[in-house]
Amino acid sequence: MSEDTIFGKIARGEADAKIVYEDDQCLAFRDMFPAAPMHILVIPRKPIPRLCDAEETDAALLGHMMLVANKVAEQEGLGDKFRLVINNGAGAGQSVFHLHMHIIGGRDLSWPPG
Ligand code: 5GP
Repeated sequence: MSEDTIFGKIARGEADAKIVYEDDQCLAFRDMFPAAPMHILVIPRKPIPRLCDAEETDAALLGHMMLVANKVAEQEGLGDKFRLVINNGAGAGQSVFHLHMHIIGGRDLSWPPG
């Protein structure tokens, strides 16, 4: 679970990604297989495998990721119409074990998600 992932490599600049935002704590890049016209992933530089592995000391980082998502949504012209998703664990659809928040938008979004 703690081994390196493709997102860890992207965070360290060792693998390519279409980065749309970065700062000292996190970065945002386009999903390689978009599920919507706008599909961006926000990841922490710190390699936390799953949301459930986050600790109290990560509280500011997790909050920062949400504010970065806001910033990216505005930057990408999504206005107030976008969804944030975190798949936690393989059973919930997580396939890359480096915490990431999906920003999905650019089309109508139904509820509940599958
Ligand atoms: P998960 O299923 O873990 O919640 O989401 C992983 C996401 O990462 C998927 O939407 C998938 O399309 C995307 N993805 C997987 N590998 C890569 C990659 O190498 N580069 C980029 N940009 N996205 C990836």
